[in-house]
Parts: sequence; C-alpha cells; structure tokens
Amino acid sequence: MRRVLTDYHVHLRPDEPGTTAERYLTADNAERYRLVAAERGIAELGVSEHVYRFTQALDVWRHPLWVDTARDDLDAYCAFVREQTDLKLGIEADFVPGREDRMGELLAGRDWDYVIGSIHFVGDGALDYDKYDVWTSASSPDKVWRTYFELLGELALSGQFDVLAHPDLVKHWGDERPRPERDPRYFYEMAMEGIAGSGIAVEVSTAGLRKPVGRIYPDRAFLEMVIDAGNPIALSSDAHVPDQLGYAYDRALELLDDVGVRELCVFERRERRLEPIGAT
Ligand SMILES: [Zn+2]
Ligand SMILES: [Zn+2]
Repeated sequence: MRRVLTDYHVHLRPDEPGTTAERYLTADNAERYRLVAAERGIAELGVSEHVYRFTQALDVWRHPLWVDTARDDLDAYCAFVREQTDLKLGIEADFVPGREDRMGELLAGRDWDYVIGSIHFVGDGALDYDKYDVWTSASSPDKVWRTYFELLGELALSGQFDVLAHPDLVKHWGDERPRPERDPRYFYEMAMEGIAGSGIAVEVSTAGLRKPVGRIYPDRAFLEMVIDAGNPIALSSDAHVPDQLGYAYDRALELLDDVGVRELCVFERRERRLEPIGAT
C-alpha cells in the first residue's frame, strides 16, 4: 500500500510586499518546490496562496491589510497551477464572520483540490501580524481566546472549508503577549462542538515551531480532543520558501505517532481520502 507525506498548506512566496505573481507564480519556482519535496519524501504537494493576495477578495472584506495586499487575479492563479505545474490546487481562505456568502461566491466555480480555512483576525485585530496586532486593543486575554476558538467552531460548521488551518494560532506570540490563566482546554472546548459536528480535517502545522511560540499548531491537548471527536488529520508546514517544505516533520510525526494517528488526509478535487503515513 502507498504511504504518504503531505504538504498542502504551502505558499509559493513570502508574505512581504513586492513578492509579485510575475516573479513567484512561475513554473520554475513550482519546480523548485517539487524538487525539495521529493528530496524530503513528500509525495502529496499542493499550494494554497492567501486569498487576500487576489483582487477578488476585496468583494469579501476590505480590511486595510487586504486592500494593501490584493494585487493578483484569482483565475490567473488557478490557471497557472493547473496548466504550468503538477501541484495540487488549493487556497488559504479566511473565515470572515458575516461574510460567508461572499466568500462562498469567491470559492464557488473554481476547481480546487482543497480549501484551507483560517482565522487570522479577531475583529479587525491580527493574531500573527504586528501591524494590526489584536493585542494592542484587547480587553482581556480571555476575551481574545474565547472569540478565537468560537470562530474556529463557526469556520468548521460553515462547511466551506476542507481543512482547518493552524488551529491554535492565537498562541502565535508565546510569552510576548498575554495569555489566559485558566486551562486552555476550557477554550478548546468552545471550538470542539463545531469541529466534531462538521467532520472537517484538522491541520497539524509545524509553522508554529518557526514562530515566537516555538510549538507545533495545535497543542497536544487540542489534538487529542480532535482525535476523540473522530476528525481526520492533515499535515502541512505552511512553507513560504522551498526550504521550509516538510519543516521539522520529524517532530510532527513523533507527535502524531504518540497520539495514535496513523493516516493522513489526501485531497483531490475536494474529495478526501485517508492514506497511511510514511515517506516515499
Ligand atoms: Zn495562515
Ligand atoms: Zn499559510
């Protein structure tokens, strides 16, 4: 039987301004990613550019970050991935509460292999970007964490996404920002009903190891609750350059083995199947 490692939550370029489609959304760049993935035993490789890099996203939400960032055409991106690469076609789309219909319209009619759903904002405040930092105006860490995990549950139940990305991103800054005093499982529970009810795939992301918090997303207690709920797991690095593909997968695979996960989600045209974990 085929064994598989996946990296689906992947960006073909860093988030910095000036990382244009002309320079990064190219067959040569995609090939660089494919080569590094092959070296690291990752057979299932896809890309998931941020939705807010595309002008169509401004019909959904006009957050200042999105207005600053939306430059590219979404259909040109889809055509590029399908016609000039052998990568799976994904997108990382934000769940913006109250804008589900508009995001639904954007996602519809494009032939994704998978849609990754993210929460990067609580209100207008960013969780992992200091320019619009949610913590400069946060009334209390409990409020931020509660809202964040409630939104995760809503994202799952919206039915618009195949994968729930970096599921405890709210911890991104680690000790550099306040943190609630109570047991984090109290907050995780707020997301779990929606996650369990939706059957959404939940991402284990090694990106957190590269961030101030220095930990895998999500924490083990969250992952155990997800497994108890019966949701399948998707493994990704959230790479923004080729060398980040499969980043610290040894750590992720050890965690998955420890909690009894033996299979990973594989996606094709928004159909999901499970395959045994292993490098090719
Ligand atoms: Zn993200
Ligand atoms: Zn990402």
